[in-house]
Amino acid sequence: MTKTGEYPQVRLACVHGDRQRENGFASTTTVRYSLSDIPVARPATGLAEATVACGSCASRIRVRVFSPAGRRRWKLAWFGLLLSGALLATPSTIRLIALDALDDPDPLAYVRPVLTNVLGLGGVVVGARFLFTEDGVRLTSFWGDAGHRLRRW
Ligand SMILES: [Zn+2]
Repeated sequence: MTKTGEYPQVRLACVHGDRQRENGFASTTTVRYSLSDIPVARPATGLAEATVACGSCASRIRVRVFSPAGRRRWKLAWFGLLLSGALLATPSTIRLIALDALDDPDPLAYVRPVLTNVLGLGGVVVGARFLFTEDGVRLTSFWGDAGHRLRRW
């Protein structure tokens, strides 16, 4: 019996190249790629490393697949990042609004709340992005393979 979540939902995208299209004033870039499944069963615990053949160009890609518990831990970590980002950004936003209400605020008073605001919002954006795409799958090289990416949709 196949349980849901036993196999990764993300798929391997083989990038065929970017196509630039000029339409009037703007140019749009379309990335063309084809997707293939990652037929690596999730390990019960820890981390499985496997070689997956790309269905499109036949190159072999090393992938790491985390156990369901590992995937959950990653999700929790991204959620924590999102939450701490929000906790950091909210009070600094309130502080900035309060500073703006003053008649002649000291410019230096802005530095700290602006920095924490940027940091906090960055955490929210990065946390949210990874929270929704996290599937406990990684390409073995950190920067990914030049012609291949992991895609959920
Ligand atoms: Zn490929």
